[in-house]
This record gives sequence, structure tokens and C-alpha cells, in this order.
Amino acid sequence: MMLPPKPIYVTQPTLPELADFIPYLEQIWDNKILTNGGPFHQQLEQALCDYLGVNYISLFTNGTLALVTALQALRVTGEVITTPYSFVATSHSLLWNGIKPVFVDVDETTLNLNPDKIEAAITPQTTAIMPVHCYGHPCDVEQIQKIADNYNLKVIYDAAHAFGVQHESNNSILNYGDLSVLSFHATKVFNTFEGGAIVCPDAKTKQRIDHLKNFGFVDEVTVVATGINGKMSEINAAFGLLQLKGIDAALQKRKVIDAYYRQGLGNVKGIHCLQGVGETLANYAYFPILVQPDYPLNRDALYQKLSDNHIYARRYFYPLISDFPMYRGLPSAAPSNLPVAKKAADQVICLPIYPALNLDEQKNVISLIVGN
Ligand SMILES: *Cc1c(COP(=O)(O)O)cnc(C)c1O
Repeated sequence: MMLPPKPIYVTQPTLPELADFIPYLEQIWDNKILTNGGPFHQQLEQALCDYLGVNYISLFTNGTLALVTALQALRVTGEVITTPYSFVATSHSLLWNGIKPVFVDVDETTLNLNPDKIEAAITPQTTAIMPVHCYGHPCDVEQIQKIADNYNLKVIYDAAHAFGVQHESNNSILNYGDLSVLSFHATKVFNTFEGGAIVCPDAKTKQRIDHLKNFGFVDEVTVVATGINGKMSEINAAFGLLQLKGIDAALQKRKVIDAYYRQGLGNVKGIHCLQGVGETLANYAYFPILVQPDYPLNRDALYQKLSDNHIYARRYFYPLISDFPMYRGLPSAAPSNLPVAKKAADQVICLPIYPALNLDEQKNVISLIVGN
């Protein structure tokens, strides 16, 4: 009897053994602390600082609330320069703060915000730049910082993809800019079911962020800011502590899968495997390929062929953020302003990559792409 083929998705969350999580739950049931910066929350903040090599972390319920709060923490207003080539939450965090996004095109190699295009987009209303380390590949952090310094702008990195990535300075990529924001969503390299964090350089900023994520409370009777409820629960924090034990093994498996794709697809005419620039330690969060005109099929035809074979790759990032209804009326959203991003959005496919992807499954993906 033929078994129905097992679908292969672009990612699959990495989970520890269920039994290993029970002792954490027992502790929570014993101490009855479910949230509000309990013991697991504090332990995970410290463990992540140590693991990532950063000074301060404030945990959040998810990455989007962390982005929204990061903008509040630095009192960003007016206009913010950002990339159209990202997940929609990047720009949504600006609109939630009443900030006008100004889209700037991306760099051809990395598909990250192109620093050479930033200056022309700065106006008297510009207060910050929000770049994205897309696919975990570092932005040109030095160049972006130079521009920010010249024009007195804040820099908030959407680092949702960049967990564990080290830069050529031998430093965590999360140490660049004024703040960096992580996501621990189920689809990310490190997950706490849902979760997120803001990485910040000093204790004073962390304190402001901690107040903001807890309604603005400083103590029982004092409210200093119009805060939100963005606190990570003890269950998510405990889970994160357990996940952290498996993260090195998970990253190692991703690395092997990445290398095998590059070996199998590197010489296929019309298939370009994207590669990061300036990273000394990558996290292999995604495996984006560009389907170029000299490949026999166009992107959507290849995407369909993979789906027909139960391989559910994803077109990250298509459509561009600037093409969604709440953005497309902005002058900076005009396709003529964003030709590189537009082309990438029309050519990209992210192939399945996750620690549990086995060799046969990967061979199948590769042979479907090569066999044209
Ligand atoms: C996942 C993601 C977010 C949002 O994070 P959530 O934790 O899902 O809220 C923001 N920006 C980018 C680039 C992302 O990929």
C-alpha cells in the first residue's frame, strides 16, 4: 500500500523531549509564580545574555510587541527609514506608533537595506533607521552607524532572524545600533512557542523597557509611562531555558543542511543561493534561492512544482511590505523607488531548512530543482 507522501514545510519547530519539560512545570506549580518577572524569566534573561554575548535583555511576549516597545523606549517619532523586504511586522510596528515608514531599496547581494540609498531619504522629520538583518545575514552595520551619527538618528535593528549570529568584529551582531529586537516565534531558530526580546546596551535603557512592558509601573503606586503588557510568562521562559540547552546542536544540524544545499544547487544555471556578508558565525535560519531568468522555469512555476510534490517552500519576502494596502500609497512605496527589492521578491524561494530535515528529504528537494 502506498503511504500518502509526508508534506515537507519550509520549517518545523525544534522541540525538546516532553519529559524534560515536566520538572520545569512542577517548579511553576510549586511556587505559583506564573508571570511578572518570575524566577524563570530572570534566569532566561541572564542565560541569553551569556549565550549571545550581550549586556542586557528584556524578554517579551513576542517580537512584534518588542518592536513596538523599542520605538517607545527611544521616543522615536516622525519618519523612520526602513526596508520593504521583510516580514510585515517591521513596518507595522512603525504604524502602531504613528510613525511614517520611509522605504529605501535593498542591496543586491544581501537584500538588506542599502546604506548608499539612505541619505537621500532623510528629511527633517527623520528620527531613526530600522534595518532588518534579513535571513540572519548582517546589515552593513558600520556604514549605517556612520550615517546615523552624521544625522543624529537612532538605529533599531529588527534582528528577528539573527539569533546567535556573530559579526566579523567577533562580536554578536546584536551589539550594533541602539537596540536590537529578537523574535522567539515557533518558526524562528530559537523558539519559546511565542516570544521576543529587546537587546540593549545599558542598565538604564533596560529599566525603561522593563517599565514599558509592565504598564509603566515602577512600584505598586507609581506609573511613569504609558506602558503596555508585553511580559513573557514563566512557562515560555522556562521552555526557553530548556531550548537553550539544545541550540548548539540545532545550529550545527542547520549548518550541515545549508552546506548540502550549496553543494547540490551551487552550479545549477539560473539558481542563485544567497549568502551572507561579514558573518563569522551564521545561524542558517533560512535557505533563500533566487530563481533567475536563465532557469527553465520562473519562480512561481518552480514553487508550484515543489508544492505539487508536497514540498511547501515559501516566497519570503513576497509581496513586498510596500505593496500592502496600508503602505502602497506612500511616495517611497513606488516600485520605481525599490527596483532591487521588487526583483528579489519576484525571484525568491526559501527552501525547507530545520534540524529534523533528513537527507532523503533534502535530496528530493534538490533533485526537483536540478531536474529541469
Ligand atoms: C518573525 C518576525 C517578526 C515578528 O516576530 P513575532 O515574534 O512573530 O511577533 C518581526 N520581524 C521579522 C523580520 C520577523 O521575521
